[in-house]
Amino acid sequence: MSAVNVPGEGQALADAVARHYHLTLGKDRAGGDHHYLYEALALALRDRLVGRWRRTRGQADDSRRRVAYLSLEFLIGRSLHNALLSLDLEAEAREAVAAFACDLETVEAEERDAGLGNGGLGRLAACFLDSCATLALPVTGYGIRYEYGMFQQQLRDGYQVENPDRWLRDGNPWEFEVPERIRRVHFGGRAEGYRDDHGRWRHRWVDAQSVLAIPFDMPVPGYRNGTVNTLRLWRAAATEEFDLGEFNAGSYTDAVDAKTQAEKITMVLYPNDQSEAGKELRLRQQYFLASASLQDILADWLAAHGEDFTGFADGYCLQLNDTHPTVSIPELMRLLMDEHGLGWDAAWAITRESFAYTNHTLLPEALETWSVALFGSLLPRLLEIIQEINACFLTEVSRQWPGDVDRERRMSLIDEAGDPQLRMAYLGIVGSFSVNGVAALHTRLLTRGLFRDFHELWPAKFNNKTNGVTPRRWLAYCNPGLAALIDETLGDGWVCDLERLRELTPRAEDPAFRERFATVKFDNKRRLAGLVADSCGVAFDPAMLFDVQVKRIHEYKRQLLNVLHIIHRYDRVLRGDTAGLAPRCVLLGGKAAPGYAMAKAIIKLVNNVAAVVNDDPRLAPWLRVAFLPDYKVTSMEVVCPGADLSEQLSTAGKEASGTGNMKFMMNGAVTIGTLDGANIEILEAVGEDNFFLFGLTAEEVEARRPNYRPRDVVAADDDLQRVLQLLESGHFSLLEPGIFDAVLAAMTSPADPWMTLADFRSYVDAQHRVDAAWHDREDWLRRCILNTAASGRFSSDRTIREYGRDIWFRKGATR
Ligand SMILES: *Cc1c(COP(=O)(O)O)cnc(C)c1O
Repeated sequence: MSAVNVPGEGQALADAVARHYHLTLGKDRAGGDHHYLYEALALALRDRLVGRWRRTRGQADDSRRRVAYLSLEFLIGRSLHNALLSLDLEAEAREAVAAFACDLETVEAEERDAGLGNGGLGRLAACFLDSCATLALPVTGYGIRYEYGMFQQQLRDGYQVENPDRWLRDGNPWEFEVPERIRRVHFGGRAEGYRDDHGRWRHRWVDAQSVLAIPFDMPVPGYRNGTVNTLRLWRAAATEEFDLGEFNAGSYTDAVDAKTQAEKITMVLYPNDQSEAGKELRLRQQYFLASASLQDILADWLAAHGEDFTGFADGYCLQLNDTHPTVSIPELMRLLMDEHGLGWDAAWAITRESFAYTNHTLLPEALETWSVALFGSLLPRLLEIIQEINACFLTEVSRQWPGDVDRERRMSLIDEAGDPQLRMAYLGIVGSFSVNGVAALHTRLLTRGLFRDFHELWPAKFNNKTNGVTPRRWLAYCNPGLAALIDETLGDGWVCDLERLRELTPRAEDPAFRERFATVKFDNKRRLAGLVADSCGVAFDPAMLFDVQVKRIHEYKRQLLNVLHIIHRYDRVLRGDTAGLAPRCVLLGGKAAPGYAMAKAIIKLVNNVAAVVNDDPRLAPWLRVAFLPDYKVTSMEVVCPGADLSEQLSTAGKEASGTGNMKFMMNGAVTIGTLDGANIEILEAVGEDNFFLFGLTAEEVEARRPNYRPRDVVAADDDLQRVLQLLESGHFSLLEPGIFDAVLAAMTSPADPWMTLADFRSYVDAQHRVDAAWHDREDWLRRCILNTAASGRFSSDRTIREYGRDIWFRKGATR
């Protein structure tokens, strides 16, 4: 894909790498430390990004609305290869490191993942930044520079063990500290009213403690277009005078303590996916991001326009990635009113026309609420503002539905039942001009369920933006073999115009093309088998079907259904019932939130089942099972190109979109999945013949729920009975009896929210169809090619164009 594009460029890069190695880092060649070579190459590439970065900033078009993408998570992974790809310098980089007797892969392996996110939501933010830069859109990412990213997962006796991720230990060559843009963020104290010099009644926040917010900028290069956008990450630090004050008062240790307290704010990413614990430090993080970012944005506005904010909402759109940064809404109100003297109505009009909110979940446990008492003690002035927003809003509701007090109670931003709670999703809706879901089904379920009242009030606010993934990282970079084959077949324009993959459709009928595709897949499977051998000690045979489920471990994602199927297969082989079975290697992987006992038990179960299966020589020709530790972006880059079958098993109506499903599809894996999230759109794009569909629909799940009796389901299914019998007998926990009792109890409870057993039969039947399809090799390859060919609409470029068209840069409309 990469050819030497400019004569002399190869030598120039080699010289730059050598210069950084010897002069910037002070190393001599004999050192042989690959990490320094990685740093030298990163710095040489960074040098090439800096000029483009400056030009991008200089070319900013003041008539164009700018976008700030506010997110508590950016799951970036590695940056080096992404920079190489964007700059089209791969061949030159290979040459440059060859001069150090090293290969590029070894150098790239030195980079640690920037794991500043949990899973799909954080990775989406990273894909979006890539697409924004590639489409040359004026979008800045704002996030937190966590000292510790997502924990590293280790397995000990099949149990998850969490280790801290000190990703910055060896420095981060991609970031630039920007001390001239330090901000101050306040906590605690109290709000008071006062009369200003013009006799106007104003509010201020007094007796607060303040911390410093220090920005670190990371370059976000567009793909070969000269654009470099910015991801600005904030780090917390103690204010100097606070230190000094304490020091002079004679309490040196208190001063040090204050410093530690301040720095704690950005110390660690909360490792919870799809759940919120309501912890004070988490609220501090959210407000810290919100306040620092808005002050930063307002500073630019003030520099260009002075204190005239009339055009602000036309100048800026602030996109909220889930409710995590929604405290930005009252914070913008506070800044406009208390700091810049605007009145309520003017500030509210600006705020409401500036924010757009993306919802990412239908799970009640993931909907953020904050105790009013906690919120008020930490952010007293913001609580006042939210209460005022709520009063105005409820007046609007009562005008629309006079006398409907039940509706007012339902829609209030404050849930008054029990200990009063702020409903952050409702604040997001009320304070934004746009609310979007992340897949067609998800948006439909939001407007009919969770947000029904709001949809009735403001139908035009709601819109869908089906997620996507960047084809740069998730195809061109992670699957160079397939990328080269596509280049050869279609030319090279497809990377930024992914719908062009449709042109591969007729090639699915061409036996020669199928063979080329098969060779690429086989090589990728060998690479994945290498990863599995190294990290799990399990031998995967690339001739077997690679059946993969990697994602956060959560009951709604139903890794348990996968395990039940594995046990069913094990049982069949032991009974000699191998007719029609496709030999399979099953790979699972994913992190469990450290406090999520059920998810951790599921990890242990997978590992115990894997141990029993892999230790039994009778299973060797039929089944291998492995649990991949420490699933992260860099592992997915090896996993998705090497998969034959993509497992997307969530209970219908529970997975908002999914993006792992899209990465697998792009890389030519066939999906077995439920009618949930973006699976539905994948099925529509690729056609029923090329997707293994199973399970209840979202409507059927809800209809079934009241009279769901898992024990009847088991009684009616001999296969399921044997599977449960094996589990209940302790066959997979001989040395630790009872450890899976809670898992079994949850699965067989009529109250099981995930209705795992209800979909067992349908799932196993679909797996039989997979086996049958696998045996017709040509037909299987056809399906794989058709999946890649139909994956064009799952490019995040398409998603971002839609955000641009309907939200960020839409003309006129109701704004
Ligand atoms: C894509 C991705 C996810 C999201 O996967 P889902 O299957 O959509 O839940 C999570 N983690 C990582 C590291 C990813 O790359």
